[in-house]
Amino acid sequence: MNGQPAENRGQAANLRSDFAHLIDGEPATSEAWLDVIDPATGRAFARTPSAGRAELDRAVAAARRAAMPWRERSFEERRAAVGRMAQVFRDHQAELAELLTREQGKPLEQSRAEVTRAATQAEGMARIPIEPELLLEDETRRIELRYYPLGVVGIITPWNAPINLAAGPLTSALYTGNAAILKPSPYTPLTTLRLGELLKDVLPRGVLNVLAGGDELGEWMTAHPGIDKISFTGSVESGKKVMASAAGTLKRVTLELGGNDAAIVLEDVDPNAVAPKLFFAAFVNSGQVCMAVKRIYAHERIYDALCEALAAEARKAKMGSGLEPGVALGPIQNKEQYDRVVGLLEETRRSGARILAGGEVPGGPGYFIPPTLVANLDEGSRLVREEQFGPIVPILKFRDVDDAVRRANDTRYGLSGSVWSRDTERAAAIAARLEVGTAWVNQHRATLATVPFGGAKESGIGRQYSVLGLKSYMEPRVISILKQPL
Ligand code: NAD
Repeated sequence: MNGQPAENRGQAANLRSDFAHLIDGEPATSEAWLDVIDPATGRAFARTPSAGRAELDRAVAAARRAAMPWRERSFEERRAAVGRMAQVFRDHQAELAELLTREQGKPLEQSRAEVTRAATQAEGMARIPIEPELLLEDETRRIELRYYPLGVVGIITPWNAPINLAAGPLTSALYTGNAAILKPSPYTPLTTLRLGELLKDVLPRGVLNVLAGGDELGEWMTAHPGIDKISFTGSVESGKKVMASAAGTLKRVTLELGGNDAAIVLEDVDPNAVAPKLFFAAFVNSGQVCMAVKRIYAHERIYDALCEALAAEARKAKMGSGLEPGVALGPIQNKEQYDRVVGLLEETRRSGARILAGGEVPGGPGYFIPPTLVANLDEGSRLVREEQFGPIVPILKFRDVDDAVRRANDTRYGLSGSVWSRDTERAAAIAARLEVGTAWVNQHRATLATVPFGGAKESGIGRQYSVLGLKSYMEPRVISILKQPL
């Protein structure tokens, strides 16, 4: 995949083209270029250089040079640097949010929240102490476990939340004493490149390098001998390729991959009270969120009422360009994903399932699909089995909680899930049976800098955020001392 359809090439004169890579503290360009499409219009509006192997080699060399003095800085110094980075997010929130909406499509309000959240998460993570651990101390021995930076971390991000998904791994890498090379998706490179430009003055030269490029740039990074770890966020399919390629140099990997989150709604809830929360959790960013609610299991006693309440939310939600005020759903981010979701919708309609709301695709310009809710769908249908990553969500009926848990767990995904009930104790006991990295009660998508996030099963390997996440950017080293003099 590469964000430059043939029909958009050759229009360079009309496109904004003031974007550059950041290599060794300097703006840099490439021979190849990449067009960036505004998903609300389907037309290219900007172009960026697209890095080749030579730019990657230069960035790796710069990062390796910068990593040496950076690892010698104290946590306090690196915490201060992360603080300056967070301040850049805050100071440029309006500009970054607008650019993000332009290239990604999400409503401006959600873009603003993403930028603010990046700052909050960065500050929160850089407050977490990383202390040596005393494993054993007795008369004769003292054994400590200490943590050291890995060296250079390659960060590869997807197109759905480029700022937020860069900020977490970037903070982790920098705070723990590593240098970084950050590569955004070819669909959404602009905010990340602009961020590189803004951060160049608040970080030492070479500590952060930003390269725009296609999937092949990601592949080269995963195989590069000068990169010690890959922090990858993207699809399960690409994640498997990353892991296979990283094996060649035994790079460490953190893989944050796709999900097919189930929300189980018990019979004691008020459907009208829960519907707005569930709707937002499923349709935020038009469903293009790894941890969005992607399947709703509703108890048969409240099934019809919940279907109606959710459908009412869908009918209320305004769809349009993310720059328009009051818009709740922007376009799908790219044509490939749009075609995939439209295909799922058509297949769902042909299956005889009941479309409760939405379902009519306007047909352009732009990649718009209205919020669509589907009832009476077969459990084996693709919409239930696969990660749709778009605004079409099935509502499935259950009678018995054990059956709901079994169906929720009957998937290769295991990112997160939630249980909704007035009885939080009962809901918590059910939530604990979900085979996921995070199980919520009466909420969904709630993450914090101090709480680990990541996937079970094929939804990933490792965790981001928290002390657990930070330590995965470091190598543990045992210092084992025999106290007796020689
Ligand atoms: P993608 O896997 O196609 O691409 C993600 C990034 O990887 C891009 O920068 C791409 O250029 C690069 N890439 C592609 N192939 C590669 C390869 N073989 N080697 C190295 N890099 C490669 O994913 P996408 O379509 O951009 O993003 C959507 C997916 O990301 C969804 O499945 C979503 O659930 C997932 N996601 C997961 C999380 C999480 O935290 N678990 C968060 C957001 C999105």
